[in-house]
Amino acid sequence: MALKVALVGIGKIAIDQHVPTINASADWDLAATVSRHGTVEGVESYSDFSAMLRDRPDIEVVSLCLPPVPRFDYAAEAIRAGRHVMLEKPPGATLSECRMLEAMAQDAGVSIYATWHSREAAQVAAAKAWLSTRRLRSLTVTWKEDVRRWHPGQVWIWKAGGLGVFDPGINALSIVTEILPVPVHLSAAELFFPENCETPIAADLAFVHPDGAEVTAVFDFRQEGEQIWTISIETDDGSLELADGGAKLAIDDIVQAEVHEEGNPFAGEYPRLYARMAKLVRTGGIDMDLSPLMHVADAFLLGRRVTVEPFIE
Ligand code: NAP
Repeated sequence: MALKVALVGIGKIAIDQHVPTINASADWDLAATVSRHGTVEGVESYSDFSAMLRDRPDIEVVSLCLPPVPRFDYAAEAIRAGRHVMLEKPPGATLSECRMLEAMAQDAGVSIYATWHSREAAQVAAAKAWLSTRRLRSLTVTWKEDVRRWHPGQVWIWKAGGLGVFDPGINALSIVTEILPVPVHLSAAELFFPENCETPIAADLAFVHPDGAEVTAVFDFRQEGEQIWTISIETDDGSLELADGGAKLAIDDIVQAEVHEEGNPFAGEYPRLYARMAKLVRTGGIDMDLSPLMHVADAFLLGRRVTVEPFIE
């Protein structure tokens, strides 16, 4: 039988990805929405989360598409009400609140899933398999996008806890932490804050790799023209490039595969996330890998702050 899910926070990602994915899946039934402004046609809508939990005990799963800062209170309330919880990325505003949610879910016997949609991009698994048998020499992340194009009107992104350029940058870090066979740790960072914003508009990161490979990342929200979401890798036995956020794979400059769906930058990612959530619920599993958020937290701890010109949308 299909799992009943309530979607909370009816904004861009809920409408673009969650609603069509749920509607297309036999595993899922979109039973309610909770949002102060947004609704989905034909679906019962609430503006009060507690009321939804009270009125709809039949809804087993809550999928949270809110920005990171308000997310903890909703997740904690859902767990206390005995519901399984699916978290958009990043899973929370701090590491400790995410750890707390995991412990609460464990105690309550419900599933919780910190989703990382970019890990589900079409070529990430192939890149991981290729890299697993080679010795890394360098890995370079270039994640440059136009914030005005991809995050119009999202004021929360510029407020403390909204992550700024790390909102997309954490997607790159979710891929890096998935495909590298060994963990890296941050050694230096420069964070560029517009003088009128609480979060950075750009960041340069450097990591220590246990074998001495050079691992770096450049994130920039000020990119106009070509948008770049690329991870370039050199090894002792060839090179690999994951481009378009993980949709395109080239090995030794020869394109191996490219999966694009017209106008849909996340093709296949959300169906795979919901399939995993269904499995977690049915097996009583928990998946709370926080390693991408850990690197972001380290960047905020260690990063040198540089003030740049104000950001005016
Ligand atoms: P968004 O368009 O701003 O939507 C977020 C929704 O959350 C809003 O519609 C708002 O709905 C609700 N909300 C905002 N602040 C709230 C608060 N303080 N308390 C309660 N509800 C609040 O943002 P989004 O782009 O969908 O992003 C949401 C999350 O998805 C972020 O963590 C982001 O990283 C992730 N994500 C986004 C994308 C993307 O392409 N945009 C892709 C992947 C993942 P109401 O005002 O109606 O309540």
